Amino acid sequence: MKDQRGSTEPPLPGTAVERRPAPVVRCRRCHRPLRSPESRWEKLGRHCADAPERTLVYVIDQEQLPGI
Ligand SMILES: [Zn+2]
Repeated sequence: MKDQRGSTEPPLPGTAVERRPAPVVRCRRCHRPLRSPESRWEKLGRHCADAPERTLVYVIDQEQLPGI
């Protein structure tokens, strides 16, 4: 008796390959990983784009993605 409803749905064709994580783009100033598409395009986070030119160094605990 088959009772596997919903448990093992095969992925739609073409979607499984697209599940790879996007490459990490880091801010060129503070090297924090960028998440918003705009920031990734410019390789500059909003936090740095809005910041003045002077180099302020913040020490922020930031979880790094493992494996990259
Ligand atoms: Zn930054």
